[in-house]
Amino acid sequence: MLPGDGIGPEAMREVRRVIDWLDRRRSISFDIDEGLVGGASYEAHGTPLTDETLEKAMRTDAVLFGAVGGPQWDNVDFELRPEAALLRLRKEMDLFANLRPAICFEALAKASSLKPELVSGLDILIVRELTGGVYFGEPRGIENMPNGDRRGVNTQVYTGEEIRRVARVAFDLARKRNNLVHSSEKANVMESGLLWREEVTKVHDTEFPDVQLQHILADNCGMQLVREPKQFDVIVTDNLFGDMLSDVAAMLTGSLGMLPSAALGMRDAQGRAKAMYEPVHGSAPDIAGKGLANPIATILSFGMALRYSYDLPEEADLLDKAIENVLAGGLRTADIMQPGMAKVSTEVMGDAIVRELEKLTA
Ligand code: NAD
Repeated sequence: MLPGDGIGPEAMREVRRVIDWLDRRRSISFDIDEGLVGGASYEAHGTPLTDETLEKAMRTDAVLFGAVGGPQWDNVDFELRPEAALLRLRKEMDLFANLRPAICFEALAKASSLKPELVSGLDILIVRELTGGVYFGEPRGIENMPNGDRRGVNTQVYTGEEIRRVARVAFDLARKRNNLVHSSEKANVMESGLLWREEVTKVHDTEFPDVQLQHILADNCGMQLVREPKQFDVIVTDNLFGDMLSDVAAMLTGSLGMLPSAALGMRDAQGRAKAMYEPVHGSAPDIAGKGLANPIATILSFGMALRYSYDLPEEADLLDKAIENVLAGGLRTADIMQPGMAKVSTEVMGDAIVRELEKLTA
């Protein structure tokens, strides 16, 4: 557990209570090691991520990351900024598959910018390639041209293996869901998109013929996500399109305080993949320490760890159900407050979720 800065530790405290409950009531005990990361680590050790913490992260089944950053570190050197810890963890652990679910809890359907019937019951998963593509491709830069003008260059580049490994993650996840994968690129105008389409098809035909595969151009995918989002199950796409499509999908479901994510690496010989789970939101310094933070994104991130790292789908479903019931009961943190509902603190929300878990298993 790396709670980090701002609201990170507050939200993580509520995850601890869920973990304590699992230990007490379901006899599932976790070996937990907690460390400093981000600004908290910088203050204690002069670096946002110590080698020792990184080494532990590399060995553990799952890293649960809170959030890092804050205005007090705005003037620190770039490589010592809190956010550098996150980038280093992702890079060293080679977390190439970013999982961003967009799940719409019934009780929050009215808070979506789309009509409730379009999003109610929505459950889609976007798998974004995270370590390749145009954000990393060379050459890159801003050049001065002989005519005195300037030229900005970035390169979209993917190898077959980079495509195949993220496709495998998507097909594998689809098997545990509704068995449908949409692969999204721009094969009509980009060679890298054409390669993407060919390689995904190859992986499908040779390793996952039982999963339904559909190719969809990325612009159409964006359109379909806001037109009829429930037609999707798993969407696999590259780094750039994934960045945009996952934000579009996320906003179908409401607040930043509700959005979990996971980043997975390669499976080893024992079938174990390095993994990091974290809420999509940041450290929210504007509300830190006030009991206002919504802990649900962090709790749902732990739920993803139950599902994808610990193979405990029953407990993950139970946790989802408990959160759904608490929301249906009318409790809201400030960020998801609606008229007629009861506004509660971080701790009361955590409390209510644990009490609901208790009720569901009584
Ligand atoms: P942010 O996500 O921290 O906050 C954006 C807005 O959403 C704020 O008004 C905040 O109060 C609200 N919010 C976010 N999470 C919430 C929650 N769980 N409950 C209730 N309200 C919530 O983004 P920001 O303000 O742009 O960034 C703040 C700091 O966090 C910066 O230092 C930034 O670099 C860092 N950051 C870190 C991560 C990360 O650790 N993964 C991600 C994004 C930003």
